[in-house]
Amino acid sequence: MYEIKENFALKKYNTFGIDVKTRFFVVCKSEKEITDFITIQQNTTLPLMILGGGSNVLFADDFKGYILKPDIKGVDIVKETESEVTVRAGAGEDWDEFVAYCVEHGWGGVENLSLIPGNLGTCPIQNIGAYGVEVKDVITEVETIEIDTQKKYVFTNYQCKFGYRDSIFKRKLKGKHLISHVTFRLNKQPEFKLEYGNLKEALGSFEDITLKNIRKAVIAIREAKLPDPDEIGNAGSFFKNPVVTQEKLKKLQQKYSDIPFYPLTDNKVKIPAGWLIEKSGWKGKRKGNVGVHHKQALVLVNYGDATGEEILHLAKNIQQTIIIQFDIELEMEVNVV
Ligand SMILES: Cc1cc2nc3c(=O)[nH]c(=O)nc-3n(C[C@H](O)[C@H](O)[C@H](O)COP(=O)(O)OP(=O)(O)OC[C@H]3O[C@@H](n4cnc5c(N)ncnc54)[C@H](O)[C@@H]3O)c2cc1C
Repeated sequence: MYEIKENFALKKYNTFGIDVKTRFFVVCKSEKEITDFITIQQNTTLPLMILGGGSNVLFADDFKGYILKPDIKGVDIVKETESEVTVRAGAGEDWDEFVAYCVEHGWGGVENLSLIPGNLGTCPIQNIGAYGVEVKDVITEVETIEIDTQKKYVFTNYQCKFGYRDSIFKRKLKGKHLISHVTFRLNKQPEFKLEYGNLKEALGSFEDITLKNIRKAVIAIREAKLPDPDEIGNAGSFFKNPVVTQEKLKKLQQKYSDIPFYPLTDNKVKIPAGWLIEKSGWKGKRKGNVGVHHKQALVLVNYGDATGEEILHLAKNIQQTIIIQFDIELEMEVNVV
């Protein structure tokens, strides 16, 4: 049975380490606990928020409602053939432990997504991605509980409307469904994806290319490049990489001939937000309790006792600079609460 805690401190429950409280906090370990709890919560006027590992949220203030942390565990094989395995896992599993489990069993598809913090149930929401792989490539189904009705739903991959750091759960259904389980199709004869960034180079020091070595290489690159939230509060990339038209790119190239970009379909290109932020002089800048990380300009950090408002203020200043300098609007990747 779940326990409802009152005036609960969230500092340890968000990787930014923002010291805020929620009026009520509850951990539910099964779908039944979740629906029982929501039925009760809906008799109140207080809002409900779902929280996973807190690695993609910024609390701007105390939360004056209920925070529900789904903690459904379990990783089960639902189908297996010579070449593939279909695995259904609970939302409360730790994402990186799941990746480690898959790699250990020789199931390919998620190894490039090693060391991304957070819960498994959150992975479809922004279609987590790294090193040329997005989780949409392996998700077959997402099971949810609709908050208003407590009805269960199953979304196919297509119905999730996945996009770059995007899905239906971040748009039309934001805050309306709780993800309870995710099903993945993994490959027992994996094809490795090594083209992105310096992954191939990092694998050079290993004897052979295996799932385990890819995981090790990804972890090594990430540890060298990204600040560890246990040491310095952050939520990974704060902004999404902006997508602009080819025409806009040509205009920018007249002034910035070295501007990096990745071609997309529809006459569009993606520009690394980190490059824009670095070029505008923000990289490594500190303002009191907050700053832009010195190794990765896309990561905003809490140097100790920052408030969410301070981080938000810094983010807005950066957005302003990028508009003035490049006429590009940076969209926040992090969910501001
Ligand atoms: C150091 C660091 C590195 C990172 N690197 C990457 C990266 O390489 N690629 C990448 O894509 N992301 C990255 N991230 C971002 C983050 O790890 C992912 O977005 C992750 O999936 C968030 O999971 P979480 O459980 O912590 O989500 P939370 O922060 O708890 O929640 C995020 C949002 O999802 C909602 N939510 C949470 N759980 C559920 C649920 N079960 N049902 C419905 N809604 C829910 C919340 O209400 C909130 O709006 C990084 C973050 C950090 C701190």
